[in-house]
Amino acid sequence: MRTIDRSRLHELMERERATFRERHPRSAELAEDAKSSLLFGVPMNWMTRWPGDYPVFVERAEGARFWDVDGNEFVDFCLGDTGGMAGHSPKVAVDAIASQAANGITLMLPTEDAAWVGRELGRRFGLPYWNFTLTATDANRFAIRWARQVTGRSKVVVHNWCYHGSVDESFATLDDAGNVVAREGNIGMPVPLDETTRVVEFNDLDGLESALANGDVAVCMFEPALTNIGIVLPESGYHEAVRELCTRYGTLLLIDETHTISAGPGGCTKAWGLQPDIITIGKTLGAGIPSAAYGFSEELSERIYEHTDWKNADVGGVGGTLAGNALSLAAMRVTLGEVMTDEAFERMIGLGERFEDGVRGVIESRELPWHVVRLGCRVEYLFRDERARTGSEAAAGQDEEVDPYIHLYLLNRGILMTPFHNMALMSPATTGEDVDRHTEVYTDMADELIGA
Ligand code: PMP
Repeated sequence: MRTIDRSRLHELMERERATFRERHPRSAELAEDAKSSLLFGVPMNWMTRWPGDYPVFVERAEGARFWDVDGNEFVDFCLGDTGGMAGHSPKVAVDAIASQAANGITLMLPTEDAAWVGRELGRRFGLPYWNFTLTATDANRFAIRWARQVTGRSKVVVHNWCYHGSVDESFATLDDAGNVVAREGNIGMPVPLDETTRVVEFNDLDGLESALANGDVAVCMFEPALTNIGIVLPESGYHEAVRELCTRYGTLLLIDETHTISAGPGGCTKAWGLQPDIITIGKTLGAGIPSAAYGFSEELSERIYEHTDWKNADVGGVGGTLAGNALSLAAMRVTLGEVMTDEAFERMIGLGERFEDGVRGVIESRELPWHVVRLGCRVEYLFRDERARTGSEAAAGQDEEVDPYIHLYLLNRGILMTPFHNMALMSPATTGEDVDRHTEVYTDMADELIGA
């Protein structure tokens, strides 16, 4: 296996940063101007973390492409980190959204679309009863509240290196001694994390059993495969055993399908026959219009009815004035019904395979100490030679120098990957040529890095 020459990497990185500045003079002006009115000079603090000296400002996006204010064209494999997974502004969705926007946006009353979307989510994921929010974060927060309400228990279990949005309970990691501590960078935590949360490694069933055995855990909030620290896949039998342990210890099982919807139209739940009590999902549901949902099993729904204080439903902590609004529901209906269809997933997953094959070919032929992993139409490369079994192993496979270099190299050649890790997502609008373009640039990047 090769090792990467770090001094060469630094030189190449400097060259890429200079290229970035040359290609983005208008973005530079806009970034400078934004500093006078925006905290950190960006709409959201994490936008400061893109590689390059400032973010690229977008002029317009369509399908799997976007164009920036300097006239550069990009193939978009980031797709808004799944928010744009339906492709940017699919025409059929834009028409339905525009039509609903002209006929009322938010009312505090249901429209016909809501029950249609609930039924369609039921068909895909197998759970019968749904409610809506505007973000996956809120779906998780409200689902945790119901889990605590129904079980009368306080604790939440999460996987080490998980991410479920800005949910307080989930910002916990394990330190070297195995203690639950706040994840680095956790802003303004309300209470020490070990008061609310237990953390277990992915694929660690003994650890999970110890975490549940006290009988004080309301809910396990799990992604079926980790997707926010590279992709970490479950070992054979893992999910069956998780289900069995949750049932044995009276803990509810929440599966967050926000990213793992990449596995197919019903996410990993359908693809792998999982049996959660709760499902949460957001981001892609409304083709980019804020939309998310959480669903419950028949049995859990009955328990929720028993624990509901109807006269205080408006101030009970599960809320959101704009949640379930008419525009969001119309967007979900058209996206699920006409864009993210079963047929579209088949094509997208085929493109994911093509992307994976291309990257694997480069890694193997150049003997790079890296690997590539795929979950349906989501593909990720990681800088360690073997697949990670746990979040900790995946975290150790992040490379703070190679990672920004690859992102910037690709960006300078018209390819956008998801920031913070190396994820590529296929949309219904992505083409085989888009995928092959990535393979071509990835090949050049690898050859330059090893001096071939
Ligand atoms: N769940 C998962 C698995 C996620 O990856 C994320 C965000 N990356 C969320 C929930 C939260 O989504 P949002 O920020 O849109 O609320």
